[in-house]
Amino acid sequence: MKTDTPRPILLKNYRPPNYLIDAVNLDVSLHPTRTRVRAKLKIRRNPACPGNPGPLRLDGEAIELESVHLDGRQLGPRDFQTTDTELVIASPPDGPFTLETSTLCDPAANKALTGLYLSRGIYCTQCEAQGFRRITYFLDRPDVLATYTTRIEADRSEASVLLANGNPTERGTLDGGKRHYAVWRDPHPKPSYLFALVGGNLASYASDFTTASGRKVDLSIYVEPGKENRCAWAMDSLKRSMRWDEERFGREYDLDVFNIVAVSDFNMGAMENKGLNIFNDALVLASPETATDASFAAIERVIAHEYFHNWTGNRITCRDWFQLCLKEGLTVFRDQEFCADQRFATVERIRDVRNLKATQFPEDAGPLAHPVRPGRYIEINNFYTATVYNKGAELVRMVQTLLGREGFRKGMDLYFDRHDGQAATVEDFLACFADSSGRDLGQFMTWYSQAGTPELVCQLKWDARTQTADLSIAQVLPPTPGEARKKPLHIPVRLGLLGSDGEDLPLALASGRELADGLIEVTKRTETFRFRNVGSRPVPSLLRGFSAPANLTIGLSDADLQFLMANDSDLYNRWQAAQDYATRVLVEAVRVIRADKKPEKPTAFVQALGVTVGDESLDPGYRAQFMFLPSENDLARVIARDVDPLAIHTARRELRRAIGATLHDMLAQVYARHEVKGPYSPAPAAAGRRALRNAALGYLTCRGKSEDVARVAAHFANARNATDEVGALAMLSELRSPERAKAFDRFYARWKDDHLVIDNWFAYQAGSPLPSTLTSVAKLMRHPLFSTKNPNKVRALLGTFAMANPVNFNRPDGKGYEFMAKRVLEIDAFNPQIAARLLSAFRSWKALEPERRKLAKKTLQGIAAAKPLSHDVFEIVGKMLE
Ligand SMILES: [Zn+2]
Repeated sequence: MKTDTPRPILLKNYRPPNYLIDAVNLDVSLHPTRTRVRAKLKIRRNPACPGNPGPLRLDGEAIELESVHLDGRQLGPRDFQTTDTELVIASPPDGPFTLETSTLCDPAANKALTGLYLSRGIYCTQCEAQGFRRITYFLDRPDVLATYTTRIEADRSEASVLLANGNPTERGTLDGGKRHYAVWRDPHPKPSYLFALVGGNLASYASDFTTASGRKVDLSIYVEPGKENRCAWAMDSLKRSMRWDEERFGREYDLDVFNIVAVSDFNMGAMENKGLNIFNDALVLASPETATDASFAAIERVIAHEYFHNWTGNRITCRDWFQLCLKEGLTVFRDQEFCADQRFATVERIRDVRNLKATQFPEDAGPLAHPVRPGRYIEINNFYTATVYNKGAELVRMVQTLLGREGFRKGMDLYFDRHDGQAATVEDFLACFADSSGRDLGQFMTWYSQAGTPELVCQLKWDARTQTADLSIAQVLPPTPGEARKKPLHIPVRLGLLGSDGEDLPLALASGRELADGLIEVTKRTETFRFRNVGSRPVPSLLRGFSAPANLTIGLSDADLQFLMANDSDLYNRWQAAQDYATRVLVEAVRVIRADKKPEKPTAFVQALGVTVGDESLDPGYRAQFMFLPSENDLARVIARDVDPLAIHTARRELRRAIGATLHDMLAQVYARHEVKGPYSPAPAAAGRRALRNAALGYLTCRGKSEDVARVAAHFANARNATDEVGALAMLSELRSPERAKAFDRFYARWKDDHLVIDNWFAYQAGSPLPSTLTSVAKLMRHPLFSTKNPNKVRALLGTFAMANPVNFNRPDGKGYEFMAKRVLEIDAFNPQIAARLLSAFRSWKALEPERRKLAKKTLQGIAAAKPLSHDVFEIVGKMLE
């Protein structure tokens, strides 16, 4: 806990380090409360910084210093100074020297889960962003790259497996076999945030992979004993990722071993430590009974993501933390492309855009808005955001859209050639694409430095006499905190014009240029594109494939949207048309409900939806996407001002009921027809059918008639896999029926001993729209299986309540806010990262209607006044109230 007033760190103040560390030798003697770390660092002055480098300042936190030696000589108390955060050596020698320190740390007491800690008896580390300084004194910044040799020693009974980065070089026993040790050496220079070690009694699931050049790599996944039979999918995903990166980007793996360890207490999803990825076990362990299709897909994605970091992040790392998007945006883009290749690309694209709009667009529209490459931060842990990750990925995608897939690959090849082994910047990255393609990406750079979601206000005017169509596009760039005036962006807009027969018209600009790929580039604040040879009034299909992370405004009629839903050759935009139509119907219903009137029957929309959902020529997984209406949070984002979460909830519930009633027979048929028989497979075809069938069941259930309840209860009872079981539990959680309690009791009895599966039991109670939910959540906090020390439990219960249950979080009496504020402060005392993440549930508070806004503000002011606050929470609450 830090109590000093934190000062922001600015990108423009970046200076290279005065000293470099070339080689690190660590000797770690594991002990639950007194782990001793002896570090030997080879240090020299940085030749890039001429002149007197001044004192050597090593970062260190929550560690106890035992001794310091310089070139073999023990330093006395006058030779160095320590503070809470530093070890300072006032005048180190001019030439290269060796610094040795011995320190102690306490893994058992470490509940912040950064540095070295114990998770269910397993020693593990998390060093990104600044955890290494909690293990030993170091220049803990990403532009200091060193080779690491790590010796780990432990009681055999306590840690039979000892792992670190790189390749294993030596192992042996000590004390007559009571203790043992292992030595690992990583020949690739890396920053300290990629350091990792693990010690524990772990079981392993092993396999191997032969690289394109014929080298054999040993692969292992380490888990709690008894869980080995849940590793096959993760291993399969790893091998497919390794092959894909060779084929798509020409990148091979570079060590003799690749290890993954699953632990149960983890702040994030997973971490790409060189050769030793450490994962939240929720993103490794999967069997048909315990993991849903969504979990299988998430495991595949995250295994791929962390593996892809080996090149984008590890071999080429970030110069400073402002460049975080350089590794994260790029690697998310790579995992998205991987999943698109493994699965149905359109469904993956829909999933990615839905996620972007749900997580990143609200960030851009609220007090936490920041550029993909921020210019300042107080606590870097607060910038592992959807903006850096998901919008960052969209920026990379736009580069690919502008240059084409081949042009993009050329730029990537140059990036790998030019910067391998370096700590790079966003400018370095873009320069590779500019240099390899000869294109000017100067204006494109603004996407990285400017926050906010652009709005494209478009108008299409067709002239029957000249047979031309004028598409005018205005970029509207809404102000964000600290940035009132914005520069115009370079925006790739993929489009089509549909003729009256539903076919795409050939696109030719008046200038004579043919647009074979349907791509125009918008660079000015307002621009008009004239298309010729347009024989009848066309229906525009804009931003195909979501070619830029922008909001689109174009005055299409309901009939136009129906036409696009039925005819657009771009399958993504067909889905987008359905979403836009649903949004229009729902926003109007919210307005009417708030005026105390009854909304009109949404007949035309429901019919159009029915046509697509019932179309057996379309992929089932794709049709399922049509059935997922915009979420309550999506609608709040679109409404943007004077938001009434209860009216939104009511409007959406009523539309769902109307769909369930009107399309009843067709939905019942879909439900019957798409049952997946035979053994479970996580493959996209089977998963798509389950998604469609469960979506149909959801609509059939929401009417709440006794036959509907019986149907979903039977679905729950007969489920042969987690997707069906958890899906039915979710539907039952919304009903007032004795079947609801029965199902939750049965689920609990079946899964109480499985710490991952039981998270569903917490989550679906916390996500229920029933008015009793807050009381249930408060009660579940005291449940013996719940612990605020375990981030997965916090996310399941508190995260779901605050982020995915808007109607209850935003209770009109403000009790939802008060409850969450208390939890944020409690958790902040030991895990600031998780506390700050929970706090971000308030990020859209300024958009609320006045009564709730007042209550939310009061709650936030209460948090701001509490003492002491971590830097993490201090920064977030400060921005919220700015
Ligand atoms: Zn990552």
